[in-house]
Amino acid sequence: MYHTQKRLGKQRTAAAPAAGEAAIPGMDSPVRYLKGVGPARMRLLEEAFGVRTLEDLLYHFPARYEDRRLLKPVAALTGQGLECVAGTVRSRGVTRTRGGRTLLRAVIADGAGGTLFGLWFNQPYLASTLLPQSRVVLTGRAERVGRACQMVHPEYELIGDEATEQVHSGRIVPVYPLTEELHQKSLRQILYRLTRRIPDMDDPMPENLRARHGFPRLQEALCDIHFPADESRRLSAYRRLVYDEFLQMQALIACRRQRARSVRGVPEHRGGRPMLRPFFDALPFRPTGEQERCVDEILADMSSRSPMQRLVQGDVGSGKTVVAAAALAYTALNGNQGVLMAPTEVLAQQQAYTLSQLLEPLGIACGYLCGGQAPAERRRTLDDVVSGRVRVLVGTHALLSEDLRFERLGLVVIDEQHKFGVDQRARLKAKGGRRPPHLLLMTATPIPRTLAMTLYGEMDLSIIAAPPSGRSAVRTLCVHSGQRGHVEEWLRRVLEEGRQAYVVCPAISQENAASGLRDARAVAAELTERLPGRRVRLLHGRMSPVEKRSAMKDFKEHRADVLVSTAVVEVGIDVPNAALMIIENADRFGLAQLHQLRGRVGRGPYESCCIAIAMDLAGEGRERLRVFEANASGFDIAEKDLGLRGGGDPSLTAQHGLPNLRIGDLVADAELMRSARIDAEEIVAKDPELRDPWNAGLRGQLVRRYGLDGPGKERSV
Ligand code: ADP
Ligand code: MG
Repeated sequence: MYHTQKRLGKQRTAAAPAAGEAAIPGMDSPVRYLKGVGPARMRLLEEAFGVRTLEDLLYHFPARYEDRRLLKPVAALTGQGLECVAGTVRSRGVTRTRGGRTLLRAVIADGAGGTLFGLWFNQPYLASTLLPQSRVVLTGRAERVGRACQMVHPEYELIGDEATEQVHSGRIVPVYPLTEELHQKSLRQILYRLTRRIPDMDDPMPENLRARHGFPRLQEALCDIHFPADESRRLSAYRRLVYDEFLQMQALIACRRQRARSVRGVPEHRGGRPMLRPFFDALPFRPTGEQERCVDEILADMSSRSPMQRLVQGDVGSGKTVVAAAALAYTALNGNQGVLMAPTEVLAQQQAYTLSQLLEPLGIACGYLCGGQAPAERRRTLDDVVSGRVRVLVGTHALLSEDLRFERLGLVVIDEQHKFGVDQRARLKAKGGRRPPHLLLMTATPIPRTLAMTLYGEMDLSIIAAPPSGRSAVRTLCVHSGQRGHVEEWLRRVLEEGRQAYVVCPAISQENAASGLRDARAVAAELTERLPGRRVRLLHGRMSPVEKRSAMKDFKEHRADVLVSTAVVEVGIDVPNAALMIIENADRFGLAQLHQLRGRVGRGPYESCCIAIAMDLAGEGRERLRVFEANASGFDIAEKDLGLRGGGDPSLTAQHGLPNLRIGDLVADAELMRSARIDAEEIVAKDPELRDPWNAGLRGQLVRRYGLDGPGKERSV
């Protein structure tokens, strides 16, 4: 290490501290150690970007770059984009415009016979900077005026003797994310000064990895990401820094995974597939090969003594419930208890109903728990669970309540898991007490593989790749609200054929007439009037649990033809006879949400259709609707959605209990993520606690940034 740094030091003689400037004590020193950073800028940097230390500042990366390497003579200016001209100030003068503004006009000679005028309004003080005979570079948009050229408000930089370095021109120049009060030039100057004076730092990346990938050293990469000599240096620096971050993330995931796998003492599960014979024999349909494979993967996990951590991914309607039911049956038949949590009451009720249909005939008692239940009913359920009478419990977030205790919890299933946060998943899992239960997550939000390996990096993956056969894709149409008449025609026809329909609205009632949103109450009233003889039911989140249950039950059992609702039916609801989904103000919904809503139809043998109505087909929701219309698969939708939102979207990582990325992009840099994952797994397999001396740097980063030994430990699910 000593040798490498010595060499680095030599290499960087140009970066040695200028005489008279105090050496920087360390990278954790506050930014005010830097010349040019006073109390005001210190506050700005912290408030806007959370930058407190020199290290934070170095990791405040440019948002983009401008190539200002080429200094042109005036004759060569094209007027296209930003251009730079170097020259000598011949004269400058301040006049007043008729509007009362001051105008500073500087005449610059480029030394090749060309003249450029620089114009600045309301900055008369520049006259004392742009002194005649000073050498200057102007960067701006050139306009021709007669035979000369001018730039209005160009960026300027004085160039002195050979020794003073050019920061803002004559190079590839970084452009930083800014706040209003912080000027680009000041920040660039500050960072320039800092990158020239980075104190020696240990490179936390194990040397063999660095060599394997041919990455530059950290110190070099940090200089180059701010002030790259050329594009290839910038790219090497970028790749190294992205990889750093990915390696940390994957090492964190690998450590968590290792820890979860080393836990023992899960309640015993034996018997495998033969034990589930009666379950499969009683099913109203034959499970598909995809479903069977998933069940086998689950049973294999559950028969081990360390807790299963498995995620089942399958598009809407692919038949995940029956897979979960098999796992729940397996735990119950083994004398353990299972619990399934769903994100909405409507869905939890439905799942409780479906599961009791499938499981009670096998002698497995099911229970249901949600908020707003009568205290006596709730008390009874809690007692039945702790005594072990109830073997499978279904519910909403209410399952997280303190007073719920199990006799012997063997399996936790979380349906539509993307609707829950890491903490909620962990809290339900903790109900197993000292004997950890198996964990099964279910989601219809398929995501690209490389993203899954990060967001679900700790989980094993089972994928249901195809829906039960005999289904045709749901036809999707996006229409303008002016065509509502045609939509109504369509609705009549579908009902005529004996099918049912959903109409989803973004609001419950008209609270704000100006919002222009269609509301469920009004739409239900309207349809009741316009469709005589048809039974229209209303369903929304402000109804009581009993009212919700009865509306849903009526629709499910075809005592209602049309269900007008809010997004409460978004996930999980299963009524195979429903063949039309109408979405009002569809531009108000996100892509994933639209796809989920569409997934409410096409769940039976009937040809189905989804009509998305939007008021404004030109707004920002338009691109989303276009993607929605053109893509039937949830996988494609998820990928496009990610593309629209960007793989750097912090909400992605936050929801999965992972820290924000400072530089990398989960989608664009997927290939780096893949190699970081391979490397991290290799490191952690050899050294699970990262105690080897060459892993000390990596361990240090994980502890500092990710709290490896702190709260991260129990947040992991
Ligand atoms: P999701 O994956 O969206 O949770 P569900 O489990 O609710 O899907 O299943 C959707 C519909 O498909 C349900 O009506 C279910 O009964 C039916 N289904 C599931 N598996 C099969 C199968 N193998 N054959 C026929 N229908 C099936
Ligand atoms: Mg489901």
